[in-house]
Amino acid sequence: MKQNSGAKPAPRSPHLTTAEARRTILESLAPVSGWERVAVRNALGRVLLEDVIAPCNVPAHDNSAMDGYAVRFRDLGARPETALAVVGTAFAGKPFSGIVGAGQAVRIMTGASIPQGADTIVVQEMARAADGQVFIPPGQQAGQNLRRAGEDLALGSVALPAGKRCGPAELGLVASLGIAEVTVRRRLRVAFFSTGDELASIGKPLAPGEVYDSNRYTLFGALSRLGCDMLDMGVVPDNPTALEAAFRSASADADVILTSGGVSVGEADFIRELVNRLGEVAFWKIDIKPGRPMAFGRVGDTWLFGLPGNPVAVLVTFYQFVQDALLVLSGVSPLPEPALFEVPCGEAIRKQAGRREFLRGQLGTVDGRQTVRLAGAQGSGVLRSMSEANCFIVLAEERGDVAAGEAVTVQVFDGLI
Ligand code: AMP
Ligand code: MG
Repeated sequence: MKQNSGAKPAPRSPHLTTAEARRTILESLAPVSGWERVAVRNALGRVLLEDVIAPCNVPAHDNSAMDGYAVRFRDLGARPETALAVVGTAFAGKPFSGIVGAGQAVRIMTGASIPQGADTIVVQEMARAADGQVFIPPGQQAGQNLRRAGEDLALGSVALPAGKRCGPAELGLVASLGIAEVTVRRRLRVAFFSTGDELASIGKPLAPGEVYDSNRYTLFGALSRLGCDMLDMGVVPDNPTALEAAFRSASADADVILTSGGVSVGEADFIRELVNRLGEVAFWKIDIKPGRPMAFGRVGDTWLFGLPGNPVAVLVTFYQFVQDALLVLSGVSPLPEPALFEVPCGEAIRKQAGRREFLRGQLGTVDGRQTVRLAGAQGSGVLRSMSEANCFIVLAEERGDVAAGEAVTVQVFDGLI
């Protein structure tokens, strides 16, 4: 019979799918509690702390949806035409002050308040005007072409819900209610640094074996777009004392620490020991390409995301894990659905089943049909592929090789937000 040797197996990092890693991260997080009042313009990209309740109706008054004539529906007959006397004009912002009486009409412009007495708008293309009169053909509907007060937003209703991240439409919507300030959650403070003895900062020549630190610039760009306050801590060498000092200072200052590099086999061990001393950290192997090794945990009260060092893996893991985590911490609820859709692939792709791949793709039109192709060389260090791509081609874990013409899922980089 085989005997147990008694030796413990070396601890192995758990293997997670992309979905499991996302769920674990997102379930751990809760929004920061600080808030501030900001003027409408400064709310761009910020997250509402509370519902915005409409303090008035939008539109404020019943008004005309078209240029035409304001009439009393009961005056219109079934005869070939009804002749009405035109007694005035209503402009947007300059209402007709009289009352529309029997047999009368008022010329009205789009957006003008409906004059007293009138209840229906006849579009000008349908009417014939001559000698101070207007002739209305039969077949009009009572109440047609009117925009009712409160039709867009009713007084007292929720105009925008808490958790909404404000884009251009939200700024306009708040302004349409006459509101000058809103309450938003405070900005997240994110500290980030690169690790690696081989990294050189830009602006000086490279020594043999060095590479320029590009990840901090990539992360700066990604974090800026999310409206985070940033603390760029530079390059930290692969040495425990320097790393401990960096983690301690970042956790004293920030809500989130993002690092790149130092999580691959051989480098992870001493970061694991260090962070477990200062807080707790889980190292994961995620069934994803690129971006397999990743750390998630906390240093003191500060969340830590230890991203891989390879420049493309940084962006893939940022978009698949970190971005939504930062949105949750910022108070965004519900999270925006990723823009995923299926298109035919313009070329064959080799794929090993068992991991989710995020290839860099170029979505374009071939012979009038949307098609996606690979955006150049796909190595996890080839940042150019990200720059030339406009989407990820997302190949699920179970999928094998893709034949040319087969449908694949794409996740587009930019949307209208
Ligand atoms: P690591 O995850 O530290 O083993 O790094 C993996 C690869 O990414 C190595 O080739 C590193 O030189 C490279 N790398 C790590 N950090 C950076 C960085 N900040 N900028 C550019 N390349 C990096
Ligand atoms: Mg390294």
